[in-house]
Amino acid sequence: MNKMQLKFLSRSENEVFARNVVAAFALPLEPTLSELSDVKTAVSEAVTNCIVHAYDGEEDWVIVECELEANKLHITVSDSGKGIEDISRALTPFYTSCPGEERSGMGFTIMQTFMDEFRVTSVLHEGTRVEMTKCFGGTAQADAR
Ligand code: ATP
Ligand code: MG
Repeated sequence: MNKMQLKFLSRSENEVFARNVVAAFALPLEPTLSELSDVKTAVSEAVTNCIVHAYDGEEDWVIVECELEANKLHITVSDSGKGIEDISRALTPFYTSCPGEERSGMGFTIMQTFMDEFRVTSVLHEGTRVEMTKCFGGTAQADAR
């Protein structure tokens, strides 16, 4: 069991920072390149949501927490921003609250697809928390390592 916590401002350059830190933290579990790429993609989407949506472009804290346990990596990405009014609508593929911008509304769908477990909880005006788990070596890719 190992744990880490990362706290950074909701600035766009911190998306790359956060996904690489999480990938580096997971290395002791010897993930395949494909598993690592799944994790980085999911972290990017979750962190980008905090940067873009949670604080309406203002700078505030984003927290990423990770736990390694056996062959599993648990990741929590949380903000204390505006929250999500209707979670099931937010989870719908192609739903975005910012259709005029370059958003495709696929962030949550990508997180669900690339990770083995996924859960989002949110309280309006208090913040949002995305919990995701990746199991390494748990699939047919195991023989590719
Ligand atoms: P894309 O991720 O494809 O660029 P998107 O961010 O709009 O587009 P999702 O990531 O699936 O799509 O998120 C769906 C919607 O959920 C967002 O449009 C936004 O309204 C809401 N949302 C997601 N994350 C947060 C958050 N951390 N705080 C507040 N609202 C959020
Ligand atoms: Mg998104």
